[in-house]
Amino acid sequence: MFIIAAGCSSLPVVQSTSGQKEESKQSTDTTETTLVAKIQPVSNSAKVNDFCRKIDEKFQEYSWGKSRCDEFQWNHVRNSVLGDPLIWLTFGDEKEHESNPQNSTMLFCGVHGDEITPVKFCFDAIYAVEKLDKDFFKNRFLVIAPIVNPDSFFKKIPSRTNHRNVDINRNFPTKDWPAKALAMWRNYYKSDKRRFPGKKAVSEPEVVFQMNIIKRYSPDKIISVHAPLTMWDYDGPDDTIEVLREVLAVREFSAKSLLVGMSKKSNNYRIKDYPVFPGSLGNWAGNERNIPTFTLELPTSDPAKTDQYWELFKNAIMSAFTTDLRGTKSGIVDTDDVTTKPGT
Ligand SMILES: [Zn+2]
Repeated sequence: MFIIAAGCSSLPVVQSTSGQKEESKQSTDTTETTLVAKIQPVSNSAKVNDFCRKIDEKFQEYSWGKSRCDEFQWNHVRNSVLGDPLIWLTFGDEKEHESNPQNSTMLFCGVHGDEITPVKFCFDAIYAVEKLDKDFFKNRFLVIAPIVNPDSFFKKIPSRTNHRNVDINRNFPTKDWPAKALAMWRNYYKSDKRRFPGKKAVSEPEVVFQMNIIKRYSPDKIISVHAPLTMWDYDGPDDTIEVLREVLAVREFSAKSLLVGMSKKSNNYRIKDYPVFPGSLGNWAGNERNIPTFTLELPTSDPAKTDQYWELFKNAIMSAFTTDLRGTKSGIVDTDDVTTKPGT
């Protein structure tokens, strides 16, 4: 196993609405050091260690075995509404990725707290990745955030929305949010409390967290794992953006090829073009920033089925990690840089 802790980044990040510092540098408590990797010891903060114990309890409750959470070097800057750390892991060399962008993938799980299986799915991905040879990460960079919405996941009766009753997959500041988010919630969802987008966009720390790590690492692709709609969905570059028509067509072809490949590798799991909503990750990252964004909806939220889900999807997820979608730049960077790094 090898883990490289994230270092300081100069990439721009979103300003926090709560005044917290940004996802730029982790704080660590060096009083407790456990040797995990042959390359680097782990030194998580006391707060993260407490959180790991909480995760272990949940793992026991769901009969998932030991999480081994405290064996990984977590990054942590921001907390959930109730104060749990919003943590993520990186695999690969962040400095190298900053100066010479690598083939990079970001994996989110636990966005909706009542979708139990995705959380274990991200840990299963971590357990698979830690076994990979160091050479695997020579030109690759992975970011895994396993519990994006801990307040809801750890509730006695887990909920979809966060502690302030906001659906954090409807709270991203997409262009259509001001005009459509609340109207659509009232009309399309009949004011379903489970899908409340918030009183204003990007009001929730769990949303700021996702935006900041996307901006920090500029991933080539994002996979967000949900349940139980039983499908792969894709949001991303399409040919409606005239100025980038040519390069984006290539990029979309690659992203869609990957989508089809992942479906094949998961026993022809259904691909569905799910509607796009104001404030969703797929809309903000995929449609507005041209980052291919894949949503994997597992078949159920039944915690007893996590092993079989990882077995079903592990080859698809690994193919996403290895497939290189670079060749155009995402909308996060200046468009005049768009053709400078074909195939790198
Ligand atoms: Zn969901």
